Amino acid sequence: MEHSSKLIIHKLRSKVIKLKADLLKAKLENRKLRKELATYKEMAYKDTLTNLNNRRSLESISDYDCLILGDIDHFKIINDTYGHLVGDEVLVEISSVFKHFVRETDYVCRWGGEEFLIFLKNCDDEDAYGKANLLREKIMELSDEFGFEITMSFGVSNLSDSTLEDAIKNADEAMYESKHNGRNRVTVYQLEKKK
Ligand code: GH3
Ligand code: MG
Ligand code: MG
Repeated sequence: MEHSSKLIIHKLRSKVIKLKADLLKAKLENRKLRKELATYKEMAYKDTLTNLNNRRSLESISDYDCLILGDIDHFKIINDTYGHLVGDEVLVEISSVFKHFVRETDYVCRWGGEEFLIFLKNCDDEDAYGKANLLREKIMELSDEFGFEITMSFGVSNLSDSTLEDAIKNADEAMYESKHNGRNRVTVYQLEKKK
């Protein structure tokens, strides 16, 4: 083979080796960026205090049957009496109760300051009432640990015939009925009653 042809082949081989190295580098960079993206998504959709899903995470939620909205009773008094840090600790402990007592398929979210949403799969209003009542009892048990009364009021609504927005509104209405009737209780929103 001519010297010039050998040179061309050599140059082409070097080029191929370099392209392969560049491709590998790009793949590694891509993997790193995907990991970073997953971390940022996790950060964007998590509440930093409780590590629960946050309100923003609900953008992609679907396929749940029932909704429970829970609101801590007289939380302002807890903060005012024992301090904001103790209030934060109450939020963390309540979140742990939620995480512990829902199924893997359910979805818990910190909706706002002292309000939480729990989305339930494969259930009807009665099941959701039972679950909310169990959570209510478990949260009451935190009172012994803290040395002061901790209770929550709950509202339950159905997601099957409502938009997410309406279901939240209905659960909120039911929750306010619980507040109105003395707090520390569960109310199921009754679609029929409102028609
Ligand atoms: P109700 O039984 O009617 O719900 O009374 P409430 O005192 O729980 O309700 P209100 O809306 O008057 O007060 C809510 C309080 O929750 C006020 C606010 O400072 C407190 N809060 C909201 N987010 C946080 C938080 O992240 N940490 C702490 N410690 N307090 C919070
Ligand atoms: Mg509230
Ligand atoms: Mg409250």
